[in-house]
Amino acid sequence: MVFSYYNKLSAARKRVYRKSDELHAVPLPDGKALHPLIARLAEALEHEDRDRTEEICKALARGLTSRLGVPLLRLKVLAMRPTTGSEELHGLYELAEGRASAVITLWMRTAKHRRVVAFRAFLRTFLHEMCHHLDYHLYHLPDSYHTEGFYKRESSLFHQLVPEA
Ligand SMILES: [Zn+2]
Repeated sequence: MVFSYYNKLSAARKRVYRKSDELHAVPLPDGKALHPLIARLAEALEHEDRDRTEEICKALARGLTSRLGVPLLRLKVLAMRPTTGSEELHGLYELAEGRASAVITLWMRTAKHRRVVAFRAFLRTFLHEMCHHLDYHLYHLPDSYHTEGFYKRESSLFHQLVPEA
């Protein structure tokens, strides 16, 4: 199955899309060693501790990028999600381009309810943005599309980090 926007892509972009769609898992060497960080992340979010949340996310980013052999990226955790109309932004991935490294920005609170984002949703967002990074640097795709394969890779990482889920 492909998402409807596939039909609007050029032939070259369709090839990138199909390549992305075929990759279903991201095997993570020694993912177990990262489990303590996951428990600490849940705790930091529960305590609404932005500094600690950011520090743990940075450690997790180091752990993931070093295990997968991709460049490290910068990571920022901000307080309130920005809104664009009715849509809330959960996370953002920006390519390195002119910068020293790519950047992931995550938000701790929903704009609507001003509540701290639930731990699983927050981790999913983190891994979603990390999967964009992997598309460029692990799979060397020229574009990073939201394909079914992309969401499977996001889930694959999630289940290796939160095995009881
Ligand atoms: Zn995305």
